[in-house]
Amino acid sequence: MRKGIDVEDVTAILKEILKKQKKPIPLHEPSFCGREWAYLKDCLDAGWVSYGGQYVAEFEKRLAAYTGVKHAIAVVNGTAALHICLKYAGVKADDEVLLPALTFVATANAVDYCRAVPHFVDSDALSLGIDVKKLKAHLQDIAMLKDDICYNRKTMRPIRAIVAMHTFGHPVDLEPLVEICNEYHIALVEDAAESLGSYYKGKHTGNWGRLSALSFNGNKIVTTGGGGAVLTNEADLAEEIRHVTTTAKLPHKWAYVHDRVGYNYRMPNINAALGCGQIEGIEGFLESKRALAAKYQRAFQAVEGISFFKEPDYGVSNYWLNTLVLDEAYWDERDALLSATHREGILTRPVWTLMNKLPMYCGCPRMDLSIAERLEKAIINIPSSPHLGVDTNED
Ligand SMILES: *Cc1c(COP(=O)(O)O)cnc(C)c1O
Repeated sequence: MRKGIDVEDVTAILKEILKKQKKPIPLHEPSFCGREWAYLKDCLDAGWVSYGGQYVAEFEKRLAAYTGVKHAIAVVNGTAALHICLKYAGVKADDEVLLPALTFVATANAVDYCRAVPHFVDSDALSLGIDVKKLKAHLQDIAMLKDDICYNRKTMRPIRAIVAMHTFGHPVDLEPLVEICNEYHIALVEDAAESLGSYYKGKHTGNWGRLSALSFNGNKIVTTGGGGAVLTNEADLAEEIRHVTTTAKLPHKWAYVHDRVGYNYRMPNINAALGCGQIEGIEGFLESKRALAAKYQRAFQAVEGISFFKEPDYGVSNYWLNTLVLDEAYWDERDALLSATHREGILTRPVWTLMNKLPMYCGCPRMDLSIAERLEKAIINIPSSPHLGVDTNED
């Protein structure tokens, strides 16, 4: 590294903070310290491991209560949740869906599952999510409203929906985004896979989109092994989604009658049991994660050339993945820093490759992506598991 500190110094800072931990230290691993075992045992004892049993409904109830969104439908993973969100946002074949280029691949794949076309949007360096101002300018440039449908004038395809993804738990600036969506008649879907426990202006993320998706993969804030959920405030929509994600089977004691093409997407009871145990611990996880973030922030405060990414002013982040942002002068050293930390058993990661650079999405429409391109080179994620933040105040 050219000025300030070098790769060894950064590695030393991380080693010092994580010195008490058993190596290797993964980016994010779950903690099981509540009633998970008891609930899982109850599932096995009762014999209800897939359909049937009380945990799916209970987990859904707790998710709704926690997020403040009226209805939660538990599904097999976050990707399936996004697929269903987009389908019920009205996305059809040959529509376009706006989404950030800087996201996990599932966001784009869910668009493709609807046989629609991803249309990539730039990111904001203050939130790591959609740059709302730049999006507005882009739509003024390319969009056209006809019969209350927004069209891309260049492709003449309808722009049906936009997916706001709350990167590493940091909320997108939702209020102005909602305004744009209303103006252009574009449905808002939130990819809240990373933002359980994150708030925008005092309200939980997932409350702004007509539909929102959560993930409970093993590396997320709360895990069910694999799992996800669709959130919506609309009772009819929730009922329809519950039906279609359960193979669209009509309730009957023995007959197999399905009234439409359904999906085998419903979360099994055994996963929901794990989720019930996990969600009871969420406040503790969040407290530990924020304590760890504060510790990283203090350690990197005076370091020239590298900044610790802080939540935007308008929201509260769960700090799902703690993030270092390298100044441009240090970009060439990023891989050396990744190697040096891995040699020490500290499993740091770069951010995702931009979606528009992946072979299946390289031909898709997009706006200028200059900020996302900079962030792609600048971001390093550092270990963020909740247990790393426990007792972090004692030294
Ligand atoms: C984890 C994640 C998903 C998908 O979740 P799975 O449960 O792994 O299918 C979707 N979007 C984002 C941004 C994610 O981080």
